[in-house]
Amino acid sequence: MSEPTRYYADMDALLADAEAGEHIRLTWSGLAPLPADGLACVVCGQSYIHDGGPHRPVGRDAVTGSQVFACTGTCFDSATADLIAPTTRGERA
Ligand SMILES: [Zn+2]
Repeated sequence: MSEPTRYYADMDALLADAEAGEHIRLTWSGLAPLPADGLACVVCGQSYIHDGGPHRPVGRDAVTGSQVFACTGTCFDSATADLIAPTTRGERA
């Protein structure tokens, strides 16, 4: 579903980029129309149009090129889990 093109050393490094407004280099494919347009969470599908909770950019849709988002918290962590360097993930276990 996702194809990471860059690994972060850890979640702090990833969040630092996100806080700085840096584009997270994750390309998404196979998303539903709303998430693919950045109008809903790529993980849980929560719409941001009327009732948007806090959310963060998590990359771009492969087809639309739109920036896509995930809810801050569990969804964001889940969406970006593949971006954390495998060595770091191993140490956590
Ligand atoms: Zn969500």
